Amino acid sequence: MVIKDLEDYAKENHVPIMEHDGIEFLTKYIKEHEEIKNILEIGCAIGYSAIRMALIRDDIHVTTIERDQERYLKAKENVSAFHLEDRITILFQDALEVELNEQYDFIFIDAAKSQYIKFFEKFTPLLSENGVVFSDNLLFHGYTKQKERIESKNLRQLVQKIRKYIVYLKENKNYVTEFYDVGDGIAVTKRR
Ligand code: SAH
Ligand code: MG
Repeated sequence: MVIKDLEDYAKENHVPIMEHDGIEFLTKYIKEHEEIKNILEIGCAIGYSAIRMALIRDDIHVTTIERDQERYLKAKENVSAFHLEDRITILFQDALEVELNEQYDFIFIDAAKSQYIKFFEKFTPLLSENGVVFSDNLLFHGYTKQKERIESKNLRQLVQKIRKYIVYLKENKNYVTEFYDVGDGIAVTKRR
C-alpha cells in the first residue's frame, strides 16, 4: 500500500480528502516546525491526512476522530497497512462528544463545515502554548467568495456558516489568523 492508493480510493469513492496543494502546504508547515509532536485531527475520513502527517517524523503522534463507521473502519485498515497503529489513534465518535485531556501542538479541523466554531471552541483549550490550528475548506470550491446568490438553500446555509467562521476568526481577540487560498482554502490560527 502506498499513498497513491489512498488518493485513488478517495477519488473512486468520493471521499473528500485534502486537495494536493492543501496537503503539501500542511505537511510542509509540520516539517518546518519540529516542535510539533502531538496532533489532533477532527475529521479522519479514511486516514489519508493522518497518515501523511504521521509519516513526516517518527516522534509525531496523531489522534484523529471520525463519526462515520465505514470510513472509520477503512481508516483503521489503512493505518495498519502503513504500520502506524502505534502513532495514530482513531476515535470512532462524534467530535463534539469526545472527551480529551491532552495538549496538542497542532489541531487540524476538517470535519462538518457547519460546526467549525463549535470545534474551535471545544478544542482550542487543548492547544499547547505555541500551538497552531489549521482549518480546511474555507473557500468551499469558491462559494464563500461568490457574490451572486446561491440557488440551493442547503448550500447557501452551509456557505453562510463558513463565512461566519471566517468572521469569527478575524474578530477573535485571543487568536490571530492568516488565510491562504491554497487547496480549498486554509486558515492558520495562533494565540495572540
Ligand atoms: N482529513 C481527511 C478528510 C476528512 S473529510 C483527509 O484529508 O484525509 C471529513 C470527515 O469528517 C468525514 O469523513 C465526516 O464523516 C467526518 N465528520 C464530519 N463531522 C464530524 C463530527 N462531528 N465528528 C466526527 N467526524 C465528523
Ligand atoms: Mg477538507
